[in-house]
Amino acid sequence: MSATTSTLSGPIPPGSVIGIMGGGQLGRMTALAAAQLGYRCHIFTPERDSPAAQVAAAATVAAYDDEAALDAFAGAVDVITFEFENVPGASVRRLAERAIVRPSWTCLATSQDRLAEKDFVNGLGISTAPYRSVDGLPALEAAIAALGRPAILKTARLGYDGKGQYRIGADTDLAAAWAAMDGGRAVLEGFVDFEREVSSIVARGPDGNVAAFDIVENRHVNGILDTTIAPAPLSAALVAEAVRVALAIAEGLDLVGLLAVEMFVTREGSLLVNEIAPRPHNSGHWTMDACITSQFEQFVRAVCGLPLGSPARHSDARMQNLIGDAVQDWPCLLADPTARLHLYGKAEARPGRKMGHVTWLKPRSA
Ligand code: AMP
Repeated sequence: MSATTSTLSGPIPPGSVIGIMGGGQLGRMTALAAAQLGYRCHIFTPERDSPAAQVAAAATVAAYDDEAALDAFAGAVDVITFEFENVPGASVRRLAERAIVRPSWTCLATSQDRLAEKDFVNGLGISTAPYRSVDGLPALEAAIAALGRPAILKTARLGYDGKGQYRIGADTDLAAAWAAMDGGRAVLEGFVDFEREVSSIVARGPDGNVAAFDIVENRHVNGILDTTIAPAPLSAALVAEAVRVALAIAEGLDLVGLLAVEMFVTREGSLLVNEIAPRPHNSGHWTMDACITSQFEQFVRAVCGLPLGSPARHSDARMQNLIGDAVQDWPCLLADPTARLHLYGKAEARPGRKMGHVTWLKPRSA
């Protein structure tokens, strides 16, 4: 491969090899969608028998910083993308010197760090919860004095599914909260008393064309997504604003691929961005069964520079994650004619582990 930019023109045609960093369920469902369009996927993951590798044409099992393995991988694929954004920055830069990487490593770097992400979003004139950078107990005390309680302290890096978070209530000891951050940089966020949580998923191709899925409502349990409802019960004005926000962020990042933007709807009826992810997202799984084009197919189309598909919703949907032992319900779910079951091929149902999901469909409302 000689191409080194993420904005190269011309499609990467079916028959090519898509390299995917990460071996989880997002990679698995991307590889299945890619296969439908005639691509092969090559998975790079430290995990043996990963959910993605089970359905892919090839896999490299190596550490994310194994330079020889990264170089061989870059030489064996036509384009590289991510199903997991916490790949070390140096590894991503190395890959980008040797292959087309979409989205670009700058998009990943922004989304890997909560502080960089919030600074970026606010820099576009888009609101988030109020926040402060925290690098020690004195900074935490100053941040609490500025933002008040309750608040949430989050590690700046490597946090997901509510991990690396510490809720600070009226009586919380700040030294204990800071100790929970393991000495890393953190972000203190003002607590948002939201009406609901929603997300927007948009695709953007190398030519700048965009497509947006319907806005959905997300309900979390213990910081982990539990249920997605499509469409979200929002006014037309808020739907338009949620799409505008996601497209503005995708354009601001010069993103090629897919972007998920999680937002709070405040009780006053405005939107605050909580988190962004430059990849397929759990809150987009409903699209597999309820839209003309799934988020995974759209991701493949965007990354490969194909025309984007229609994101139109043909059915209303409720997606439920099957977390830990909930996966044991599979016989009942298979017996339900309105349910579409997706299992991820994970051998062990540990608590908090996403084992699969189910989507219930009903006729499209409006
Ligand atoms: P996150 O890992 O940042 O997506 O947070 C996981 C979940 O915690 C969110 O989906 C919210 O339900 C909750 N949460 C996170 N940040 C805040 C906040 N600033 N105010 C209120 N709830 C929050």
